[in-house]
Amino acid sequence: MRVPLTTRDFLDRAELVYGDRIGVVDEPNQPAPSLGELTYREVARRGRALQAGLDELGVGEGERIAVVSHNAGRLLECLLALPSSGRVVVPVNFRLSTEEVEYIVGHSGARMVLVDPELEPALKRVEAEHRFTTGEEYEQLLRFDTEPVPWSEPDEDATATINYTSGTTARPKGVQMTHRNEWVNAVVFGMHMQIGDRDVYLHTLPMFHCNGWGLPYATAGLGARQVVLRKVDGAEILRRVEQHGVTVMAGAPAVWNAVLDAAAEWDGEVPGRDRVRIIVAGAPPPSKTIARVEEELGWEFNQIYGLTETAPLLTVNRPRAEYDELDPQERARRLSRAGVAALGTRLRTSDSGEVLARGNTVLAGYWQNPDASAEALEGGWFHTGDGGTIDDGGYLTISDRKKDVIITGGENVSSIEVEDVVFSHPAVAEVAVIGVPDDRWGEMVTALVVVAEGRQVTAEEIVAHCRGRIAGYKIPKRVEFRDELARTATGKIQKFKLRESFWADADREI
Ligand code: AMP
Repeated sequence: MRVPLTTRDFLDRAELVYGDRIGVVDEPNQPAPSLGELTYREVARRGRALQAGLDELGVGEGERIAVVSHNAGRLLECLLALPSSGRVVVPVNFRLSTEEVEYIVGHSGARMVLVDPELEPALKRVEAEHRFTTGEEYEQLLRFDTEPVPWSEPDEDATATINYTSGTTARPKGVQMTHRNEWVNAVVFGMHMQIGDRDVYLHTLPMFHCNGWGLPYATAGLGARQVVLRKVDGAEILRRVEQHGVTVMAGAPAVWNAVLDAAAEWDGEVPGRDRVRIIVAGAPPPSKTIARVEEELGWEFNQIYGLTETAPLLTVNRPRAEYDELDPQERARRLSRAGVAALGTRLRTSDSGEVLARGNTVLAGYWQNPDASAEALEGGWFHTGDGGTIDDGGYLTISDRKKDVIITGGENVSSIEVEDVVFSHPAVAEVAVIGVPDDRWGEMVTALVVVAEGRQVTAEEIVAHCRGRIAGYKIPKRVEFRDELARTATGKIQKFKLRESFWADADREI
């Protein structure tokens, strides 16, 4: 028998098996009325009411619905309920500028946009046929008195979500995730992390980023409680861990550095010792961070590696039984590797050292971009753009990045996009944007600028020029002036040369 694997399965099962349980605890501090505590039955009921409301508006299956929101219960509902009805959810990074959001809404062809009330003033200009804030307006949309029209032909190969990600092009690309991609990711992820109905998951990861790594589906399907956190803050994370008995969290190394800082100031025993397990990815975690998480917090450290394009799960590095007897430093060293291929995934490296992957979590393609899709999937393997090595035990270590992308605080920044904006300043003759090592953010966006002849410009003026044109986290934190930039004989800027002086003391180039 073949039954389509659709994301609907997760909320359906949550409702059936865990209907009476508090499934979602919404963020109390938000501009919209908080949903408070919802049982999984209520989440499912509200999801159907949302679908019925969209039926009434004529926004039916196959339609894209963009949601620009901080983490919130309503965004979580959209992720769970919209694809279930054959609609496509497009979660948008809430830090993007108006112009960037406009591009995504236009490119995805979204007829409907849902906007966080806090972002509404800044995003007023973003147009769509239907536009609602995710506060009172969203509540008005819900229709509890009618049953929604069911998805006419559930199809596991249909697109469930489109996640826009900054890559090597000036414009973000829409990663098209099928129901099957999301299903396999959630099930394999849940299995590797042994998620179960005793777990309490705190959303320390932005849900827009790769659909919160697919964990909203995994945790719902397995009956774990989900606690929504709107803004990442070290001390607040510790307070929620204590208050809600949190057991699982996920995030980039920068999040755990913030938690470690907060723990140093924490009054009394840090909560969650021997209970919490964290899942880390987005950038290579320094082994010092790993040892500190295990020793100072007593939390279990797990690493995964993947991309938005791979749903994200490609590898897993869990503390194995064999690691129990190791001294903390050796344990940390082993856990600092990206991990070993997850069940059903195959990995190899190309002749040039690029990491290639095959598996059921790999994207169907980039939305309306067949050239980029063909390039990424050339030869039947997904090209990650990361450089790495695989050791005898099958463990992958990421060593550098082949693609021209900077990762700061876990978010991708396209160098080209930033270069375009800096270059549009009239006093800039040439610019190269690179990532330089930074303890807090992993990498710091840095612009190397050659000033046009007869012109003058300060670093502050360049930063001011970028403001409003691109999202804040993409704006160079550091601007340095150069007489010239290293180039090849054919005139191509040699980024690796420009990076060399900054990365000389680091043991890897990422
Ligand atoms: P994104 O698509 O925004 O999630 O970014 C994916 C990129 O993050 C990958 O291509 C890697 O460069 C980086 N990344 C993710 N996980 C890890 C990891 N465990 N170690 C090193 N880099 C990582």
